[in-house]
Amino acid sequence: MLRMSTSTPASWGQLPKATHFCHPVHHRLAPLPSVESSMLPYGLGRSYGDSCLNDGENLLLTRGLDHWIAFDPESGILQCEAGVSLAEILEKVSPMGWFLSVTPGTRFVTVGGAIANDVHGKNHHKAGCFSTCVLDFELLRSDETRQLCSRSENQERFHATIGGLGLTGLITRATLQLKRIVSPLIASEQVRMRHLGDFFALADETHDTHEYCVAWLDGLASGTSLGSGIFIRGNHLEEPTDLTWKKKPMLPVPCNAPSWFLRKPFIKAFNYAYSHKLRGDRHQGREHFLPFFYPLDVADRWNRFYGKKGFFQYQCVVPRVGDGGPIREILEHISQSGQASFLNVLKVFGDLPPEGLLSFPRPGVTLAMDFPNRGPETLALMTRLDEIVMASGGALYPAKDARMRGEDFRTFTPNLDQFIPHIDPAFSSSFWRRMERGHSCPSG
Ligand SMILES: Cc1cc2nc3c(=O)[nH]c(=O)nc-3n(C[C@H](O)[C@H](O)[C@H](O)COP(=O)(O)OP(=O)(O)OC[C@H]3O[C@@H](n4cnc5c(N)ncnc54)[C@H](O)[C@@H]3O)c2cc1C
Repeated sequence: MLRMSTSTPASWGQLPKATHFCHPVHHRLAPLPSVESSMLPYGLGRSYGDSCLNDGENLLLTRGLDHWIAFDPESGILQCEAGVSLAEILEKVSPMGWFLSVTPGTRFVTVGGAIANDVHGKNHHKAGCFSTCVLDFELLRSDETRQLCSRSENQERFHATIGGLGLTGLITRATLQLKRIVSPLIASEQVRMRHLGDFFALADETHDTHEYCVAWLDGLASGTSLGSGIFIRGNHLEEPTDLTWKKKPMLPVPCNAPSWFLRKPFIKAFNYAYSHKLRGDRHQGREHFLPFFYPLDVADRWNRFYGKKGFFQYQCVVPRVGDGGPIREILEHISQSGQASFLNVLKVFGDLPPEGLLSFPRPGVTLAMDFPNRGPETLALMTRLDEIVMASGGALYPAKDARMRGEDFRTFTPNLDQFIPHIDPAFSSSFWRRMERGHSCPSG
């Protein structure tokens, strides 16, 4: 079916606006549509910027690739089509004592999308990226060949497609190795951080003791409180408990909020409430894996809180330098700019070598922030942050990007020349064309 869509599909940041010819894909054995312009796979659109968009051209909507092919409850090896979501996998396998070995901060992403961005979770320091659980996948190319890619077959294509931004062809199905759990609960702990130094001290202390860790920062803190917030860490409960659980309904966000909604006073109130939700300096408990891994999934389409102008997520990784260095510089700069970020998440990346030629994680610390789109003012702030990231030898995450410059992307991507020959000539994206043109896009 061919249809022109003007409102959906969109990216999670709801910018830039794009229109597409949409082609739902319903079966892994179906051929690619014959089209005159380029195509790009589109999963659940949880990428924030334009890496999942192909403005004016074709999108292959992969959610119809939703079949389970095989699951072995003894070995935890799952073979499924690429449009199956991580939420659907967890719902089925966790009651059988299996879990994903790496999961991002939302469960509403497809297997294909998780591979194409080689997503990371709260355990990068222990487990690396999503690709570590990928045993193989099938790639459908525009010349109608189907390639089984793994660490032993079509290895180069395997490593190019992991983190390959959907440009190397359509992943139709994948085989994943899941990990054992004996409980759906996480033994978790929240610890107050009074400044950035506490983050680094807690990260060091946690490195060998906890599988998962992440920090939420108060984006309005400054001076001696810069980097204050809550450090969250946890492990799967090792004591067996009932593995079954019931899904709770999500809070609906039916339409875009008005533009005044997420202004500074609201952000201030939220940051105050969040930082004071922890009574005392630390809290230990047991919680279900859903709120632990996916606190934002409590609301459906929460991106609509930012209104129709959308928002930017800025995620960078920079080397760790003592207890501050470039991360401190970035936080200081944001605090001085007066532009509040609603959500600020800080994590440590470990030093496991990435599997994808374009995989984003590299050793250091990664900071993700959401900025409401205020046009040139917001763009200018992020351009200044780019300079700090660039000077430190860091990088920006394409899955979260709508405005980095092509020349910066080339600097952040040392394996680009090795990757380019693997691009399918019939595939492209708005992000990719923007990178080729070499300049950043306007704000909406
Ligand atoms: C609340 C929230 C939290 C997040 N937390 C994290 C996090 O902690 N870590 C992290 O790494 N990311 C995180 N992300 C980003 C998200 O995990 C990635 O953008 C993910 O790739 C989105 O998957 P998707 O199915 O929505 O794919 P889309 O966004 O639709 O597409 C992503 C890319 O995958 C390609 N693609 C999709 N399906 C296929 C296929 N079948 N074959 C080939 N290519 C395909 C697309 O072409 C595109 O390039 C978060 C996003 C949100 C909204």
